[in-house]
Amino acid sequence: MTNLLRLIFLLAWAGSATAQSVSATYQPIPQIRSPELRQLQIDWRSNRLLEGMAEQLSRQFTLSQPLKIGLGECGMSNAFYKSDAKIIVLCLELIPDLVSRILREQGTRLDRETINNIVVGALVFIVFHELGHAIIDIESLPVLGRNEDAADMISTYLILQEPALAERGVAGGLFFFSKPTSLIPGFFNQQHMSDEHGLNPQRAVNLACAAYGKEPSRFVWAMQAARVTNQRASRCAGEYAQLDRSVRGLLRNVIR
Ligand SMILES: [Zn+2]
Repeated sequence: MTNLLRLIFLLAWAGSATAQSVSATYQPIPQIRSPELRQLQIDWRSNRLLEGMAEQLSRQFTLSQPLKIGLGECGMSNAFYKSDAKIIVLCLELIPDLVSRILREQGTRLDRETINNIVVGALVFIVFHELGHAIIDIESLPVLGRNEDAADMISTYLILQEPALAERGVAGGLFFFSKPTSLIPGFFNQQHMSDEHGLNPQRAVNLACAAYGKEPSRFVWAMQAARVTNQRASRCAGEYAQLDRSVRGLLRNVIR
């Protein structure tokens, strides 16, 4: 935890001084202890993937306060939004964690490009989910129901507005939610029911339904992947129309 707090502190102060609404920041290389993660940080920095994401988001939004997206070593595989520092922290540990999960679940039959696509898609979904939290916080949006559901719905909506990201982001989100939350398949205990997040299969269904509601012919595969029932499928267009109206209304001063 000390490591994590140090990271947040450093990231919050190490950002570039640009006028962008969203900017990228990196934990300095010498502070990263794991050699594997240090190399990952060097690769990400040189590829400017985070900067690309920040520039894209800055073109999409005008936020009331500057937001940072930081990459660094956390001591755990996670991503989170820190309201006090207005930063989305993406933990380097997430990347090898996603890759090993893909290899474990899909075996070695996937080529490098496919693995890369799933990892980037999952990271897109994760960053947008945290962005949902950031927008709710920075713009003081009203939230009814669970905050985690609201972050999911805002992020889903925003991913679907970006033609270059939509398919990959939805696929990445569905992969992320395919992780079993329960040791016994289909069995959920009181801890699952009390969680601030929906169950993974429910989050997958909501994501697929929004995508299908917006563009049915493009996202039939997502409905199949999330195993959405026909009964729910018949409601998706109406649900998406409501989401569209709601998010556009709430973010009328934010979306460019
Ligand atoms: Zn969340």
